Amino acid sequence: MTGNAGGGSLTRREVVKAGSATAALGLGLLSAAGSEGSPAVADRKRVVRLAHLTDIHVQPERRAGEGLAACLRHVQSQGDRPELVLTGGDMIMDSLGADEARVRVQWELFAKVMKAENSLPIEHCIGNHDVWGLNRKDSRTTGSEARYGKKWAMEVLGLSRPYRSFDRAGWHFIVLDSTFPVDQGYTAKLDDEQFAWLKGDLAKVKPDVPVLVLSHIPILSVAAFMDGENEKTGDWQVPGAWMHIDARKIKDLFVKHPNVKVCLSGHLHLVDRVDYLGVTYFCNGAVGGGWWKGGYQECEPGYALVDLYADGTCSCRYVTYGWKAQE
Ligand SMILES: [Zn+2]
Repeated sequence: MTGNAGGGSLTRREVVKAGSATAALGLGLLSAAGSEGSPAVADRKRVVRLAHLTDIHVQPERRAGEGLAACLRHVQSQGDRPELVLTGGDMIMDSLGADEARVRVQWELFAKVMKAENSLPIEHCIGNHDVWGLNRKDSRTTGSEARYGKKWAMEVLGLSRPYRSFDRAGWHFIVLDSTFPVDQGYTAKLDDEQFAWLKGDLAKVKPDVPVLVLSHIPILSVAAFMDGENEKTGDWQVPGAWMHIDARKIKDLFVKHPNVKVCLSGHLHLVDRVDYLGVTYFCNGAVGGGWWKGGYQECEPGYALVDLYADGTCSCRYVTYGWKAQE
């Protein structure tokens, strides 16, 4: 399944003008985001190609480490090689309800494979399964452990804060922390401090600098309706843990900043694309597919290739890497 269906369509003139570049860019052309009012796609200047690897869920079982290695090799052997990797969270199978020994095994495997197999610059985003011990009973945590919550993931991933921003290739990148702890679990929401930070961060970005927002849980998604029997009561009900429950508040902020162009997420292990009020939201499947047991619904194990352009447009294509479930 690919995320490029229904992309910006080209006029006949643009197709003719694109000429041989059409063949070189392939499907990427068809998934141009925000093409409305932008120059012909062939005239766009690409500033960076990145690979978005989300929902890896590495574990010792089912050769998941080898699967991650296969995925990283696939990324790095692309003829048109990405210059940057973004992870989308859920690096490990689970630490919400896993004890210390089990969490250690998973993070060590993740770190080992990344060190051996990835030579590209990488920026990480934390997912809900990377947060240790929210389920106190199953994880046997007290909450006072030095690595409790997001600290363990931050330590392994080399992050001083769970959310942040940086500039690259003329774009501003914002990495959010979607996991808001509630009781023994979580919902998808920015706490007041993070929302205030986001507001302040966007206010500092020059209006002509395009912005990409990376979150683990989708801010807005159509696949969220399809993940589970959300219609069984006769009304559509999308859990707040599946799609940002503060999506309206975030949308209102984005409306004030038309330079926010692209949002990338994972979490659902499904692939979709939503265009809403000038922002294109891509949910980019899962490296681990259906938790290394094969695909999940129509989504096979894969990652996304994302091209960002100087004019603030973007193209995104979901790529499978041929991984078959292992015992
Ligand atoms: Zn996941």
